[in-house]
Amino acid sequence: MKPKEMNKLFKSLGLKKVNKGASVGGQWFANSGDFLEVNDPTTGTVIAKVEQASAKDYQKMVATSQKAFVEWRNVPAPERGEIVRQLGEALRAKKDDLGALVSLEMGKILTEGLGEVQEMIDICDYAVGQSRMLSGPTLQSERPKHRMMEQWHPLGIVGLITAFNFPVAVWAWNTALAWVCGDTAIWKPSSKTPLTAIACQNIANEVFKRNGVPEGVSCVIVGRGSVIGEKLVNDGRVPLISATGSTKMGKRIGAIVGGRLGRTILELGGNNAMIISEKADIKGALASAFFGAVGTAGQRCTSTRRLIIHHSIYNKFLKKLIANYKNVNIGDPLNKRTLMGPLIDDTAVADFKNAINAAVEQGGKVLCGGEVKRRKGSFVLPTIIEIENKAAIVQSETFAPILYVMKYKTVDQAIKMHNDVPQGLSSAIYSDSMSEGEKFISYLGSDCGIANINIGTSGAEIGGAFGGEKETGGGRESGSDSWKAYMRRQTNTINWGGEVHLAQGVEFKS
Ligand code: NAD
Repeated sequence: MKPKEMNKLFKSLGLKKVNKGASVGGQWFANSGDFLEVNDPTTGTVIAKVEQASAKDYQKMVATSQKAFVEWRNVPAPERGEIVRQLGEALRAKKDDLGALVSLEMGKILTEGLGEVQEMIDICDYAVGQSRMLSGPTLQSERPKHRMMEQWHPLGIVGLITAFNFPVAVWAWNTALAWVCGDTAIWKPSSKTPLTAIACQNIANEVFKRNGVPEGVSCVIVGRGSVIGEKLVNDGRVPLISATGSTKMGKRIGAIVGGRLGRTILELGGNNAMIISEKADIKGALASAFFGAVGTAGQRCTSTRRLIIHHSIYNKFLKKLIANYKNVNIGDPLNKRTLMGPLIDDTAVADFKNAINAAVEQGGKVLCGGEVKRRKGSFVLPTIIEIENKAAIVQSETFAPILYVMKYKTVDQAIKMHNDVPQGLSSAIYSDSMSEGEKFISYLGSDCGIANINIGTSGAEIGGAFGGEKETGGGRESGSDSWKAYMRRQTNTINWGGEVHLAQGVEFKS
């Protein structure tokens, strides 16, 4: 991006060349003296700096957020929803700029950057409706002239820890629901993408201030995972930690929060596969596999990492897929002709190279790609490797555009290979056979949180509950009844008849 355009973008989103990394309400502060450099992954140059928050800044934030919760929970839920509606409107107004910033800082192509902001708008709309539907059932009591019911009450402060690859959508998925549920939020974004977080907070600050929302309902804190992240997860004043990131991070956070009997929503790594049957619509399967594996440069938690292809169509399918791979326009994500942008940083490039070396050592054959692109920035070539499912490298998630391909003979064998990895996020089968499709989404089929028929693994709509099983962490966010995780459930029994009756017919009289 040209300096003049970048200045204009920064101005529109309230960013500076040197930013403070902590905000409660309209104020920005941070006094650690520890500056984070923000890189443009396309050019490898520093585009801004952020002063990270200190432990003292963190304490100030939690105290303010606790106070804000006491006020915020008094606001009727539909009124809280009205404020989230206005946030959705503010995001609509800033969609182009925020989408461009996502592309600039994270490296995903512009259409995906804009799509990510659209996802924020969609969840705001969804949360507005949800604000009138935080309902529990009325239950039949076994005692005469009694009634039972369930209520959902606000929970408290929600601590959000997010990954670099969806730098803004995951914040919105969590906060739009948390806020209508009556909670406050403290967001620790990825240190790789702090500018998008500052921009989001500026947008929220403006809407919240206009509506007199207590300071501390929306907080952002940029700081090291090992300093601020650890403080947040260890803090007994934060009843829920929603953490998105690697399985390694989730195992650590899960153990700490579990140790204090806090709650977590864990959204961790995937190892997503697509089965392509000989009964598949090949054109559709090709388009879905291509987007799933190459889109976002393989940096989605739902990216397609494995293709399990029926042996009878294996060669024909791969020939077509490789032809598509050879035509991928790699470059500046803000250029409309680009199909694949850079990886997030040089560490990701090194992980890509190490994975390819490991795959070859473990018996893999590189069918295309396999190299780093010789230009400035963190660019690699999208890669296809033929290898066995049981190879150690296939069993782990490499966050890069590497697709492992393998053959199967029977659908049962394909499902077994599919499930034979430690992760369980997203999955798909391409088949026009009803029984194959139904089997795949049945209890005998995919063991993932998301299982699709005739669409790919990558990308999800906000209306469904999003998350996965096994080492993906078991959390669910966004649609369906995911809102329940942000509230505490209360069972009420009301005696309207006057006489005391004990449950289970117990008699207790002197
Ligand atoms: P990461 O695990 O390196 O970092 C994620 C976040 O955790 C960052 O904010 C980081 O600062 C923080 N963190 C790290 N250690 C911490 C600690 N000890 N205490 C508190 N916070 C800590 O992940 P990443 O590289 O940013 O993102 C890529 C990973 O995220 C991939 O594995 C991907 O599959 C996963 N992801 C999962 C989902 C999902 O919904 N399942 C969505 C997006 C990304």
